[in-house]
Amino acid sequence: MKGTNMGNQPLHKYTPRWMLNIIETKKCAECGEKAHKHDICAIGVRSFGAEGKCTTYVEHKCGKCQVRTITSFAKEKLSSVEDLCYMIIEQIHAQKKLEKSKELSQQQNSNSQIGDDEVDALKQFLETNESHADFLKYIGSNEITEDDED
Ligand SMILES: [Zn+2]
Repeated sequence: MKGTNMGNQPLHKYTPRWMLNIIETKKCAECGEKAHKHDICAIGVRSFGAEGKCTTYVEHKCGKCQVRTITSFAKEKLSSVEDLCYMIIEQIHAQKKLEKSKELSQQQNSNSQIGDDEVDALKQFLETNESHADFLKYIGSNEITEDDED
């Protein structure tokens, strides 16, 4: 898995559609290039305010000039960490189901509901980890390498 070319970052596959829609209305502050879902290099939760409210954010890297931008969704309909967990896990499930159905054609998979422990695990993970790489590992995108620094 080392040295995998990341012309295509798959993180957008795990990003909820409504977030992608917002991202794709953005433009790079540096060069004006339109943001694209393939530019997404991180998705996460950060807390703000005294009440410990959470906001979701997406980091994306300009395809043209490589400048990174963080888009927060503080004023969007979420947000609790739980909400984000549900959304992400939903995406992961949908994605895995899709891949599985490609591989195994018709095998029915009954466990596509989201389990509480799954949400708890992801929630805990998001609360204790800052690293994007760890998150990518968590959601199983271990083909991504961090070769984009420098
Ligand atoms: Zn740019």
